[in-house]
Amino acid sequence: MALREIRTYPDPVLRNKTSRIELIDNTLDRLIEDMVETMHAAPGVGLAANQVGVPLQLAVIDLSSREDEEHRHPLLIIINPEILSAEGSVIEEEGCLSIPDYAEKVKRAARVRVRAQDRKGKQFELEAEGLMAKALQHEIDHLNGLLFIDKLSPLKKGLFKRKFKKVLLEKA
Ligand SMILES: [Zn+2]
Repeated sequence: MALREIRTYPDPVLRNKTSRIELIDNTLDRLIEDMVETMHAAPGVGLAANQVGVPLQLAVIDLSSREDEEHRHPLLIIINPEILSAEGSVIEEEGCLSIPDYAEKVKRAARVRVRAQDRKGKQFELEAEGLMAKALQHEIDHLNGLLFIDKLSPLKKGLFKRKFKKVLLEKA
């Protein structure tokens, strides 16, 4: 296992749509192991493959160490995921490993039904609400080249861009 570098905004790899995975082999298994390790080390609760520079439809979500039982869920690996249905809406704060030191409230569906394949390639469906619903939407957005800042109002997006420019200038 190895840690992979997490790509950060505005890396263009985050903006490209990822490709469907047709072959589940040892290379993919290694990528999954690396992604789980990278997510835990960050630390974060979700990571999409393009966040480590691999443009494939794969994401990992780990809510297994949540203290509140209601949100706890074993490590989830989703390959070629798609949202089948989405209901309701919630506005909650979100952050992203690819956009460090920034969090903002965004609107998401409250409940989603997702179809995906597990790491053996077996298809499954999952119904989720709460934190898992939010994580699934966030990660599936990543796989479509979308970031949570895309969901901000024009005003907040403007504020984000200004803050971000400042961060870039400080680094330079
Ligand atoms: Zn993210």
